[in-house]
Amino acid sequence: MSTTAPTAHALPSYLNPDHVGPWGIFLQQVDRVEPYLGNLARWVETLKRPKRILVVDVPIHLDDGTVRHFEGYRVQHNTSRGPGKGGVRFHQDVTLSEVMALSAWMSIKNAAVNVPYGGAKGGIRVDPKTLSRGELERMTRRYTSEIGIIIGPNKDIPAPDVNTNEQIMAWMMDTYSMNQGSTATGVVTGKPVDLGGSLGRREATGRGVYTVGVEAAKHIGLDISTARVAVQGFGNVGGVAGKLFAEAGARVVAVQDHGGTIYREAGLDVPSLLKHVQATGSVGGFDGAEVISNDKFWEVPCDILIPAALEQQITAANAGRIQARMVIEGANGPTTPEADDILHERNILVLPDVIANAGGVTVSYFEWVQDFSSFFWDEDEINARLVRIMKEAFSAVWLVAQDNKVSLRTATFIVACKRILHTRELRGLYP
Ligand code: NAD
Repeated sequence: MSTTAPTAHALPSYLNPDHVGPWGIFLQQVDRVEPYLGNLARWVETLKRPKRILVVDVPIHLDDGTVRHFEGYRVQHNTSRGPGKGGVRFHQDVTLSEVMALSAWMSIKNAAVNVPYGGAKGGIRVDPKTLSRGELERMTRRYTSEIGIIIGPNKDIPAPDVNTNEQIMAWMMDTYSMNQGSTATGVVTGKPVDLGGSLGRREATGRGVYTVGVEAAKHIGLDISTARVAVQGFGNVGGVAGKLFAEAGARVVAVQDHGGTIYREAGLDVPSLLKHVQATGSVGGFDGAEVISNDKFWEVPCDILIPAALEQQITAANAGRIQARMVIEGANGPTTPEADDILHERNILVLPDVIANAGGVTVSYFEWVQDFSSFFWDEDEINARLVRIMKEAFSAVWLVAQDNKVSLRTATFIVACKRILHTRELRGLYP
């Protein structure tokens, strides 16, 4: 193997480090960890260039007979550790920069929990709410067919993300299978359980949030059974995390969702709140709680704050008012870099998204393994394996943070980048 470091040449414009946007943020994050990579730093350029970018035209017949074209993407950031893995997002604001960054963060997340995947992500620039069900199905199927040349159970395995769900995964699996001539359940994860999906997948991300929260609490001497918790977003991630903290004795004192913010110092009745959200769609109008302004949510007295809704919620404008001892990032990218610095200065521990919400992809990995063997595990086994992986991952990151006196976010990047670049080095360069 050559001992000379691979050199950086002029980068294509979309890889420009001065590029503002999600990809630019990822490049800055890589620059920050480079000094900690030791000899592996000579391979760091690998992380700054996605392995493969596919931009596809997705034409479909609308219900009124006209033809409309959508722009779709699939980016495989890195496949050194295994096939690409990451969701597909349908949103009107999807850009190539965003998909590139999300694919890179999947490389980091998958390596952080040590599942044998690289990182990938896909998306279509579309507001799916403007499409009928038939149009949505045709768009999904044409997109799947267009990216079919680079996805596959051994190549790259999509999953749900913003505005995509079990049904869309079922259509993707069917389209890929039709093109292959045989049923390939392992081409996507997050499928309905009746089509090779896994038990425990829906709750997995919230369970992972809870698991790393409990581990971190032990390190900072926080007793979960008396802790006060505030949750933003009470859906798949926040609702499950809130329920598990409440079951452990914690008081969920505030919840915010798109319908408003509710507060109860003595603790909300979480099972009743979940039923209310299921029936009405939001926490708004829930009896037995005080309504407070959305902005006040950020300063409620609490020990644990769980942003589990949208990106860029904790900003320079509210980070100074947060009273929690610990923030667990259930959502992807809920904390801006400036807010991250403010929380760090205020000694508030942040459990970063790349480890805190990795429970979902971990059970996706179990789904893929079960599909390959066509043998399905029970939910207890899935949850036990999930908890073990999350605890091991968190413990490795915690040690690196202590040893290097860095934040858990930087520590997670150090652990993950080292794992990725180690496999890069072992595999060497072809030819
Ligand atoms: P979800 O659709 O089930 O729930 C989203 C929640 O956010 C809802 O309660 C909604 O009311 C709330 N919300 C929406 N707009 C809001 C606003 N303006 N202010 C406050 N709350 C608002 O989604 P989810 O699956 O729980 O995902 C939440 C976040 O977690 C996303 O960032 C997602 O990317 C991330 N994530 C999800 C998973 C997963 O497995 N579901 C895995 C990793 C990361």
